[in-house]
Amino acid sequence: MAQIVVLGAGLGGTIMAFEMKEKMRPEDSLTVVNQGSTYSFVPSNPWVAVGWRERKDITIDLAGVFSRRGIGFRPEGARRVHPTENRIELNDGSLLDYDYLIVATGPELAFDEVPGLGPAGHTQSICQTDHAAEARTAFEALLEAPGPIVVGAVQGASCFGPAYEFAFILDTALRNAKKRDRVPMTFVTPEPYIGHLGLDGVGDTKSLLESAMRERHIKWITNARVTSVDKTMIHVEEVDENGKVKTVHDLPFTFSMMLPAFRGVAAVHGIEGLTNPRGFVTIDKHQRNVAFPNVFAIGVGVAIPPVGKTPLPVGVPKTGFMIESMVTATAANVAALLRGETPRAVATWNAVCLADFGDEGIAFVAQPQIPPRNVNWSSQGKWVHAAKVGFEKYFLHKVRTGKSETFYENLTLDLLGIRKLKDIHLEPTQ
Ligand SMILES: Cc1cc2nc3c(=O)[nH]c(=O)nc-3n(C[C@H](O)[C@H](O)[C@H](O)COP(=O)(O)OP(=O)(O)OC[C@H]3O[C@@H](n4cnc5c(N)ncnc54)[C@H](O)[C@@H]3O)c2cc1C
Repeated sequence: MAQIVVLGAGLGGTIMAFEMKEKMRPEDSLTVVNQGSTYSFVPSNPWVAVGWRERKDITIDLAGVFSRRGIGFRPEGARRVHPTENRIELNDGSLLDYDYLIVATGPELAFDEVPGLGPAGHTQSICQTDHAAEARTAFEALLEAPGPIVVGAVQGASCFGPAYEFAFILDTALRNAKKRDRVPMTFVTPEPYIGHLGLDGVGDTKSLLESAMRERHIKWITNARVTSVDKTMIHVEEVDENGKVKTVHDLPFTFSMMLPAFRGVAAVHGIEGLTNPRGFVTIDKHQRNVAFPNVFAIGVGVAIPPVGKTPLPVGVPKTGFMIESMVTATAANVAALLRGETPRAVATWNAVCLADFGDEGIAFVAQPQIPPRNVNWSSQGKWVHAAKVGFEKYFLHKVRTGKSETFYENLTLDLLGIRKLKDIHLEPTQ
């Protein structure tokens, strides 16, 4: 028998555990290690921040879910992975051995890279549900005493969809409260143009997002490096195409949410052969680490190179569907190894994203992620908001019931022509 450990139970790790449970042999055992016992549906955090969702609406206690599925659960969290010993040291000092490890730890939020950034400084965050709950208090204070908003992402960020999404959600929430006329808004981003999204644009995202921002009176600064944040002012350097400082902006704010850069979590950061200098797990096309071939990785914690050169560092987003494709490939590959076969599954890493504005939204599909693409599609409409609500309900149902996938999910995705795996039969056996 083999002991399989999934490290991290967020969007990727939970469904990883369900899918692995189905694909492993009956004699194998599976344990999930997470920091705490609560699952939070991160994509709904922007709604928590404006009071459209309560924390309880988007969180699930994982202990019951995993025990019903016969999956071991350790909510102590990992202090350090020791891949040369095939062992994880947990935060309570205990040790957990593994034959196969799947790292799904998501990002560490690098607020410390910009002085004054983040909840410990002067800006809000929506990256974690706790942060979003704090941001809600700040948003309520803004409604009482309206003033300028600065929203966006800092240099090195890779998750731009939620930054745009939150700008538009704030606009909608402020219009609903009849306070928008007293709140000038500026979007600040290191992207070289609006709608780049870390993907060099998808379909017409440049025009769609610029036009939506003009319609909603949101000004923007691109190629923007945030140098520091004071209590009421964000200091920004706008650079030219060579990265030289062109203009300096001092932007006053009453409310600000700036997405930080991400890096790998401390439990894996700095392990020679396992992670890159930013602490992201390096993997081959089978989601497998080369130095430690019994270690796989999925989700935001994997290393993906940028799509091209930009004046400021702009990372590639790892969105929900892309992560699900990594999960499916990893489950197939670990299952193959368990049976003495060669791993052959390759995830498509297609970027499918729904950016909600609160009343409508923009959707895009990039297939593959790096241009030139077979599918390069974006669209705007009220249906996107409805689809995002559907995604939330569906995903939370999936986690509550411990299902890795349903017939309907496959059907819908197949109808759209979106697949999670490259045709694995095309992958030659070694
Ligand atoms: C605000 C926001 C909105 C987003 N909206 C969307 C969206 O609408 N659609 C979309 O497709 N994508 C969206 N994304 C992108 C992406 O889908 C999410 O970030 C997703 O949650 C990433 O999944 P993950 O499993 O990699 O990491 P996470 O969901 O962050 O999970 C990581 C897990 O690992 C655990 N962990 C961390 N360190 C340790 C440790 N040392 N030991 C044990 N456990 C540990 C954490 O507690 C957590 O449970 C959004 C991202 C953000 C930040």
